[in-house]
Amino acid sequence: MSGYRFYERASRAYYGRPHFYKLLAVCTVSGGGLVVAYGEAARSTAFAEAANDNNSIKKKKVVVLGTGWAGTSFLKSLKNPSYEVQVVSPRNYFAFTPLLPSVTNGTVEARSIVEPVRKIVGKKKYDAEFKEAECYKIDTQNKKVHCRSITHQSHLGGSEDFTVDYDYLVIAMGARVNTFNTPGVAEHAHFLKEIEDAQRIRRTVIDCFERASLPSLSNEERKRILHFVVVGGGPTGVEFSAELHEFVTHDLAKLYPTLMEHVKITLLEATDHILNMFDKRITEFAEKKFGRDGINLKFGSMVTKVTEKDISIKERSSGQNVNIPYGMVVWSTGIATRPVVMDFMKQIGQTNRRVLATDEWLRVEGCDDIYALGDCATINQRKIMEDIAAIFVKADKKGTGRLKVDDFEEVINDIVERYPQLEIYLKKQQLKDFVQLLKNKHGDKELDIEKFKAALSEVDSQMKNLPATAQVAAQQGNYLADCFNRMEVCEKYPEGPLRFRGTGRHRFRPFRYRHLGQFAPLGGEQTAAQLPGDWVSIGYSTQWLWYSIYASKQVSWRTRTSVVSDWLRRFVFGRDSSRI
Ligand code: FAD
Repeated sequence: MSGYRFYERASRAYYGRPHFYKLLAVCTVSGGGLVVAYGEAARSTAFAEAANDNNSIKKKKVVVLGTGWAGTSFLKSLKNPSYEVQVVSPRNYFAFTPLLPSVTNGTVEARSIVEPVRKIVGKKKYDAEFKEAECYKIDTQNKKVHCRSITHQSHLGGSEDFTVDYDYLVIAMGARVNTFNTPGVAEHAHFLKEIEDAQRIRRTVIDCFERASLPSLSNEERKRILHFVVVGGGPTGVEFSAELHEFVTHDLAKLYPTLMEHVKITLLEATDHILNMFDKRITEFAEKKFGRDGINLKFGSMVTKVTEKDISIKERSSGQNVNIPYGMVVWSTGIATRPVVMDFMKQIGQTNRRVLATDEWLRVEGCDDIYALGDCATINQRKIMEDIAAIFVKADKKGTGRLKVDDFEEVINDIVERYPQLEIYLKKQQLKDFVQLLKNKHGDKELDIEKFKAALSEVDSQMKNLPATAQVAAQQGNYLADCFNRMEVCEKYPEGPLRFRGTGRHRFRPFRYRHLGQFAPLGGEQTAAQLPGDWVSIGYSTQWLWYSIYASKQVSWRTRTSVVSDWLRRFVFGRDSSRI
C-alpha cells in the first residue's frame, strides 16, 4: 500500500479521536507512510460479496472527468469491480501540484511529480479505460458527455469528437486561472497551474539571465529584464517568490555574479498582508523574512494592465497609477469556473452561482446521478435553521410540542453528523455536546420550538465554504469512492444520518472535511505550518516535517523515490540552470 493511501486513510481514521492520534498521524509520517492502524477489512469484505452477487448484473458505467487530485483519489480508492469506468482528461497523468513551485527552479524535476493515469487505473480490479480528451459538453438529458481528443502532433491527425455514455458522472475538472479579465494578463503573464507552466517559468528565468548578460544592453534594460514580478500573495505566490529567491541567491549568483546587483523580486498584493488565510503569526513571520531576504512586498497594489514590458498598478494608498517595467510576471491570484462547467450550470438552472453547487453527499443539486468534487464545485451546506422544525418533530415522539432537554439525546448524533457547523460552534463555545448547549441555555426546563430555535440561532454563522485545496479534493475523491464501493451494501442496510427534510435515512453519511493543516514554505529551509487545533509551527524543524509529509503523500513509490533523490541531488550539487 502506498504512503499516499496510508496518509489518506490515516487522515480519515484519526479524526474525532483524542489529540494523541492527531499528533501520531502528523509526527510519524516518514518516507514510507504512517504507522496508524485502520480497520476497514469488514467493509471491504462486505462490498466484495455484494459485487460477487452482482456479477451477473450489467455493469454500471461511471465516467470520471479529470485526473487531478479529486479524480485520481476517486480512481485510487474505487475498489468495487461492478463498475465500468471511463476516464476522460486532457492530461494523461496525475500531477502533484504542491510541488509545482519547486519545479520552477529545478529543485524537483517535472517527471518526478507526475504519474501516468493508465498506470494508476491499470492496477485496479474494476474495468477502466482512459481517453486523452477534454469534455466540452455534458448532456444530462441523454446521459452522455461530448468530448474532443487532444492533438499534440498535427501530423497524427486532427482532433476527434466522440461521446461517452454514463450511468454515473463524476465531474472533477478542477478550475481555471482567474485573470479577472485584466487586460494583457492572458497574453503576457505566466501562470503556475500546470506542469507546462512550471517548465515555462524555469526556462524564462534562465532566458532573462542569459539575455541580461549580453554586452550590448544598457543597465536600465538589464534591470528591467531581471525584475521578476509575482502577482498575488496567497500560498502559491508566496512559495513561488521564496523558491525564485532561493534559485537566484544560491545557484544563479554563482554563475552570473555581475548581474546580481540588478536582480529584483517584487510581490504585488491587493490587500494589506500576504498569506491572509493563515494565522497572524505566520503572516508576520513571512513578511519579516521576505523583508530580510530583500523581496520587495508591495501591498494595496491592484494590477490594472499588463503589457509586453510593463505592468500597471493602481496604488490604494496614493490612488496613483504606476508602471513597473518587468522581465517576467507570474500571475497567481486565484481560480475561476471552467467554461464547460459554466455551460453545464446554465443547463441545470444554476445560473446565479459562480461555482457548481452540490449537496453534502457531493451530488450536483438537481441531478441524481452526477457528482462534482474538488475545485470545480462547492458544497451548498444545509442550514440547521432550515430544518429546525423537522428536527424538533423528530425528537418529539409523543407530539406534545414540549420537550425536555434529554429528549434530544436520540437525535443528537444525526444532527451533529448532518450539520458540521454545529460541531464547530460547540468547539468554539467549549461545550461538550448539543445537550449541554441546551442545558446551559434552559437548564432542565421544557423547551418549545421557539426556545429550541433561540438556542441554535447562532450555529449557522459558523458555516463556511471549503477551501480549494488538494486536501479537500483528495478527501472528497476518497469519500465518493467509498460511497460507490458500498452502493449495493447500503441499499441492503441503510445507514447514515436522518434526513430531516424527508422520511427515512440517507444511505451514506454526508461528506465531512478533516483539516490536517497547511504549510507555507518560505525559503532558506524554513517553513510555516498551521496544524489542526490552531497550532503554529515555524522554522527549520517544520521544513523537515514538510519534507516528510510531502514525501509520504506521493502517489507512487516511483515518484516518492524521485522526489527524495531530487532533494538530495539539490543538497549536494545545487540546482541546474541549463536552459533545456
Ligand atoms: P485539478 O487537480 O486541477 O485537476 C483537474 C483535472 O481536470 C485535470 O486533470 C485537468 O486536466 C482535467 N480537466 C480540465 N478540463 C477538463 C475537461 N474539459 N474535460 C475533462 N477533464 C478536464 N493544495 C493543497 O492542499 N496544498 C498545497 O500545498 C497546494 N499547493 C498548490 C500549488 C500550486 C502551484 C497550485 C496550482 C495548487 C496548489 N494547491 C494546493 C491546490 C490544489 O492543487 C488544487 O486544489 C487541486 O489540484 C484541486 O484538485 P482537482 O482535482 O479539483 O483539480
